[in-house]
Order: sequence, then C-alpha cells, then structure tokens
Amino acid sequence: MAYKITDACIACGACADACPVSAISEGDGKYEIDADTCIECGACADTCPVSAPEQA
Ligand code: SF4
Ligand code: SF4
Repeated sequence: MAYKITDACIACGACADACPVSAISEGDGKYEIDADTCIECGACADTCPVSAPEQA
C-alpha cells in the first residue's frame, strides 16, 4: 500500500524534496501523497522530523 501523511504533519516540506517520484504536494494545512504515484520507497518517512508518513 502507498504511504499516507497523518495529521502529525507540520508542513515543513522535507518529504516533498526527498520523494524520488514527486508524489508529495502541499495540501490544506499538511502535505499529501498521491497514492497512484507513490512507489512505496519509504524516503518520506525516513526524512520526516515528526514521522507523519505512514504506510497505509
Ligand atoms: Fe514518495 Fe517514497 Fe514517500 Fe511514496 S514512499 S511518497 S515514493 S518518498
Ligand atoms: Fe509533513 Fe513530515 Fe512531510 Fe514535513 S516531512 S511536510 S512534517 S510529512
């Protein structure tokens, strides 16, 4: 399953820069992952300072 970003997100943008397929974009108050684009590499979870991306 693709990763999802939880409400713990503080909208720092680090994950969007780390994603190799540009699946992450800024949403309403937090960042969001396009599940169809995500290749489940885990880079966002590794990069996030608050562990907001979780595998669904
Ligand atoms: Fe991007 Fe990888 Fe995170 Fe999916 S798991 S959103 S491909 S960084
Ligand atoms: Fe949100 Fe974490 Fe991504 Fe920063 S790295 S925008 S806190 S999910």
